[in-house]
Amino acid sequence: MDTEQLIRDVVKSVMDKLKRDRQAAGAASPSGSAPVLSAVRGDLSQLKRTDKKIVCGISVRHIHLCSEHLDILFGKGYTLNVLRDLYNPGYACKEALTLVGPKLNAIQNVRILGPLRNKTQVELAKTDCIILGIDAPVRPSGETSGSASVVLIGPKGAVYLNEGVIRANRHMHLSGEDADFFGIKDNQVVDVRVGGPKGLTFNNVQVRVAPYFKSELHVDTDDGNAADIVNGTMVEIVDASCVSPISVTMADKDHTPPSIPDGSFSGEMADTNLLGNICALSTGQPCRKGQTAATLQASAGGGLGAFTMVAASAAKKIVITMENLDNYAQTGIEVSSNVILSPLARDEAVARGIKITYLSK
Ligand SMILES: [Zn+2]
Repeated sequence: MDTEQLIRDVVKSVMDKLKRDRQAAGAASPSGSAPVLSAVRGDLSQLKRTDKKIVCGISVRHIHLCSEHLDILFGKGYTLNVLRDLYNPGYACKEALTLVGPKLNAIQNVRILGPLRNKTQVELAKTDCIILGIDAPVRPSGETSGSASVVLIGPKGAVYLNEGVIRANRHMHLSGEDADFFGIKDNQVVDVRVGGPKGLTFNNVQVRVAPYFKSELHVDTDDGNAADIVNGTMVEIVDASCVSPISVTMADKDHTPPSIPDGSFSGEMADTNLLGNICALSTGQPCRKGQTAATLQASAGGGLGAFTMVAASAAKKIVITMENLDNYAQTGIEVSSNVILSPLARDEAVARGIKITYLSK
């Protein structure tokens, strides 16, 4: 047997097969964009016939512009340039903008998605909103009335957008065919389950059905990162299981977005107002201003219920940041296992000559 000939034949048949597969994938994606993903999605179209699985697309922060704002930001008569087509109708543009919020932090290179719309709409994740210092509501796309403000900065001008910043609700696009197959209707709300080590179930996923849609779950980057999913991850539609909706109890009545003053992470219970409000929820009485962590701890000892326990566990740590450094100007700072001194606050304290004592455990 001619081994060399055999190897040549095998290599040739493999190469031919790869070529045929490539052509097939290309045909499924006439735009030629993202061939790898299209190929993956093409294969997965076989899978969805046997279960309620659909592909996931992560919506990175982006902007839809109206023509009036396009003129201001890029100059009169400017037209957007296509960078690549999206999986569902629409395209990413080469053009991007800078966003600035009341904290004067900027987020650069925020992609514009085409085509133009009647109203400018900015879609962000919660983390983006925290950086900018705005509080954008969760809305279906297009429902921007009374939503958050931001400043858009382009190469030729800037726009103060009074309303139009939202966090897009979790939603999925379904082709008519898949909707029929799954037995799901337009505007129905479903749950979506994600597997893997960070697996979770997304509730309140709005279904949008149109014949020209390709089936795809859309979540923002915060949701995507929480579940450790990327573009192309397969997720499973499950029936909406929240038969009795849980109302959201907010300790922070003003709903102020958490701040990241100096590198300490969002969600740290550093906000004394928030602690105060949790306290008020637990005792039914307004918190006295300046009520300390120790008092909260003491009230927890009195057995006042679940909320107090939350407050107590939150109050175990005292967080010292740049913002409350003044309180320690006279006394100095004693760092024990119950005290978190943020790195910036520590540097500032050293610079201002505030004494820091590290207590051993
Ligand atoms: Zn979408």
